Amino acid sequence: MVRPHSLNPQYLGEPGCHWMTSRLTVGPYGQFMSVGPSGQEPAPPVEALAVALACADLAHIIDLVAYPVPGDPPAVVVRNADGAVRLWLTESGEERHELLTGRDPVGNTDPLAFLPYRLECADPGPDNSRNSYPEPARRLLAFFADPDRSPDLVVVHSPRHYFPEHGGHRGEHGSLDVIQSRAPFLISGAGVRALGLVADHARTVDVAPTLLHLAGVPAEQHRDADGASLDGAARTDLAEAGAGRFVIGLLWDGAHCSDLLSMAAAGELPAVARLLAAGSALTGGAVAEFPSVTLCNHTSALTGVSPGRHGVLGNIFYDRARGERILANDETTWHRSADWLRPGVLTVFEMLTRAQPSAHSACLNEPIDRGATTSTMQVIRAAGDERGAGGLDDLLPAAEDSPYLGQPRHLQDRYYRWCSRVDDAGLGQVLEVFADPATAPRLTWWSTIVTDAGHHAGGPRSEVAQDSLRDADRRLAAFLAHLDGLGVTEQVTFLLTADHGFEAADEAVTGSWAEVLDVACARLGVTYRDEGPGFIYLNP
Ligand SMILES: [Zn+2]
Repeated sequence: MVRPHSLNPQYLGEPGCHWMTSRLTVGPYGQFMSVGPSGQEPAPPVEALAVALACADLAHIIDLVAYPVPGDPPAVVVRNADGAVRLWLTESGEERHELLTGRDPVGNTDPLAFLPYRLECADPGPDNSRNSYPEPARRLLAFFADPDRSPDLVVVHSPRHYFPEHGGHRGEHGSLDVIQSRAPFLISGAGVRALGLVADHARTVDVAPTLLHLAGVPAEQHRDADGASLDGAARTDLAEAGAGRFVIGLLWDGAHCSDLLSMAAAGELPAVARLLAAGSALTGGAVAEFPSVTLCNHTSALTGVSPGRHGVLGNIFYDRARGERILANDETTWHRSADWLRPGVLTVFEMLTRAQPSAHSACLNEPIDRGATTSTMQVIRAAGDERGAGGLDDLLPAAEDSPYLGQPRHLQDRYYRWCSRVDDAGLGQVLEVFADPATAPRLTWWSTIVTDAGHHAGGPRSEVAQDSLRDADRRLAAFLAHLDGLGVTEQVTFLLTADHGFEAADEAVTGSWAEVLDVACARLGVTYRDEGPGFIYLNP
């Protein structure tokens, strides 16, 4: 049993938080100075805060604290109660770990950890010492690369942390760890090698270049507006270029990779199983960018670049240059996604039409739609309602009437109810754009969100999470039946992915770092914003 963290500033005097009492003293100008073993070096407030937060008393809720170290090459320090490491990338992109103290908190970087799936089920929400963190240097450096929007340090929740008072749920994501970062990656259909399950992984930034490859756009054109290479690369090993007449990307928000594949193998998701029978799925899935949250990874999937380049650092972040808190993942702002994209970034739809000017594209139930010929967000923008998607409630079908809803009792969850309506509308839109193959788009992107609702409500493997996958599968089956009726299924290449994974919170693991942050910032003489929570901006 983990005791809840009582909000007591005395924590700062306990072992593990000893920096307050023994390592710092007041310098000649009133600033804090380190008097630790490394000598008389100024302790920047960021490092002092990181040390305060990475204390043993908060270890049950804080998995990692990370902050950038400017320099050439730039580096990131990752700390927790057990140790600290400095990470950087070599010129050829290899990760380097320099142990600073104790045990490397991100020493295990295996992207295929907890596979086969029974290993994950046997050790859900593992502690840091048993966990894995794929590509920590690349992902954290990318996260800290935005000059105005990257925070000064980031606090990563432990997998089991339950924080309903800050918007947390029974199922959560956002961490750097392998399970919350693992989204499915399944390619199927025209031109695809039917390898079944493959012990390998891709990355979320590989989605856009892979879609371009499937649509026949050559690799030298997988570039942003300034001609720079994308961060991701096409999985040319899994599919031929341009073999399908139609390319369809499916994003099932928060769909748990291993549970999806396990349920498909058990015959519980017949439409996914049908795709898998004609394709390949990576058991390590697609590794999400950090943080493993929704809008950051929708944007990475659809631009092929990491958050430090596309600028959508999270669902909520602060922009120092604008002096504005940006609520990017919200029904009132989804249709404004292009407002947050950094200059030079192109969407997959823009890269497609740059290469193939006559190619049409459709982007359904997805915020990141700039450049798509047809999109849901265009309809919302055209409506001109400042409530955005929230203003179109009257246009959505009633949840009770959905023929794809397996368990009506889940409608008691308001988010599940709303997602069911949006997803039925999404199916309606994709059937409409495929009403006639002669006018159907070259590239279609169709997002499904009930899977996020189901996994938040109960965590992975819960009844509600698995029912949400079944509902999504029924909608996909309806679409496949429509394509069968048109006689074009064999001409389609599919890519099924998600934006992140999920882990279950433990309702006994509660607490907040707010008090420690308050006291430490007060003693260091800095003000702060904590967005998320976890994105700490000093003197904002
Ligand atoms: Zn999501």
